[in-house]
Amino acid sequence: MRLSVLGATGSIGKSTLDLVGRHPDRFEIVALTAQTQTAELADAAVRHRAKLAVIGDEGELAALRSALSGTGIRAAAGADGLVEAASEPADCVMAAIVGAAGLRPTFAAARQGCRIALANKECLVSAGNVFTSLVAESGAELLPVDSEHSAAFQALAGADPKAIEKIVLTASGGPFRTWSHEQLRDATPAQALKHPNWSMGAKITIDSATMMNKGLELIEAYHLFPVEVDALDCVVHPQSIVHCLVSYRDGSVIAQLAPPDMRTPIAVALAWPGRMEAPTEKLDLARLGSLTFEAPDEDRFPALRVAKGALKRGATAPAVLNAANEVGVEAFLAGKLAFPGIATLVEASIEGAEKRGIIEPAACLDDILAVDAAARRLAREYLAAY
Ligand code: NDP
Ligand code: MG
Repeated sequence: MRLSVLGATGSIGKSTLDLVGRHPDRFEIVALTAQTQTAELADAAVRHRAKLAVIGDEGELAALRSALSGTGIRAAAGADGLVEAASEPADCVMAAIVGAAGLRPTFAAARQGCRIALANKECLVSAGNVFTSLVAESGAELLPVDSEHSAAFQALAGADPKAIEKIVLTASGGPFRTWSHEQLRDATPAQALKHPNWSMGAKITIDSATMMNKGLELIEAYHLFPVEVDALDCVVHPQSIVHCLVSYRDGSVIAQLAPPDMRTPIAVALAWPGRMEAPTEKLDLARLGSLTFEAPDEDRFPALRVAKGALKRGATAPAVLNAANEVGVEAFLAGKLAFPGIATLVEASIEGAEKRGIIEPAACLDDILAVDAAARRLAREYLAAY
């Protein structure tokens, strides 16, 4: 399989290349990208004999060229370079750039009509129907990498949409699952970055702590699976062993279980409809002893409620939600916003966007990018006023 990895130096990108390195006969690496980690990108490109390496930060092009000199690997940079990497003919593109920055490259990958292994959930949240329409037109094959959606995809395989009653995503509850309102007010970035079960990039780790991640995932699930909004739900499951449960109208519930290691859902997306070996810990239920579940608390974690509201509102409300959340997470990590302020900022931005007529149906990627930019401006205005 000819494979390109967008976001090759990130948590998902590195897990993907770890699997590739264990199955050298299965994969041929076409293009790899990163944003700022030039040396890591060049290393990976050499190790996996990529044809093209692209660094998002144009100021790093000279350094990338020099790191790759004599290897025969082409180097490029900037936003156009990322699109070039995504457009390079491949059988599968792993879309693992973080945030709305992944929109243009992921769209470019979809345009070539290959398999898209989608980790970049923000693309589906922001661009929703615009993205799924492109996938349908181009004949691309969209396979989820997000663990809950990979689980749903497996539990739904071959199902008649009319037979589905509910899709329930599980949430770990993050590091603050048992924290009080008072404790949440003082939560620091260092505390929020310590996820109990998963090792992930900074942005999604903060999203897990606010539970915005689960909100984004409900929107992602809405676009991936043939169900109405009310058929989507989530439950807190602190052990992160059960990733999703699909209930059918006959009372059957099919769940997917696996130890929390992203190499499993990545392997599913790369090998589907086959399976490939992944070097993950094997599930030992007797040793685990018990799996527990509890209802999410939208009072302490209002981001979940705000995201559900955006999903119900439809049009570009999820794009505003995503953009404002990226601004909020960045401000929190920079020590400029208290932890509960992230959800407050997102909610205020959606209300403000509604008043200013920013929330409207979108027809194309440029519409989405314009809404994303307007929502960021709005969120920064609110942030400055706090
Ligand atoms: P990381 O922060 O670990 O990695 C992000 C990758 O994207 C890096 O290669 C980074 O390059 C690159 N990147 C960052 N900013 C830009 C930009 N502006 N333009 C182009 N490339 C950029 O993120 P994760 O791997 O954790 O997450 C990637 C995606 O997968 C996210 O959408 C996340 O929600 C999703 N996901 C992640 C999971 C996980 O377990 N990590 C689980 C489920 C979904 P550089 O290293 O040079 O900065
Ligand atoms: Mg997930």
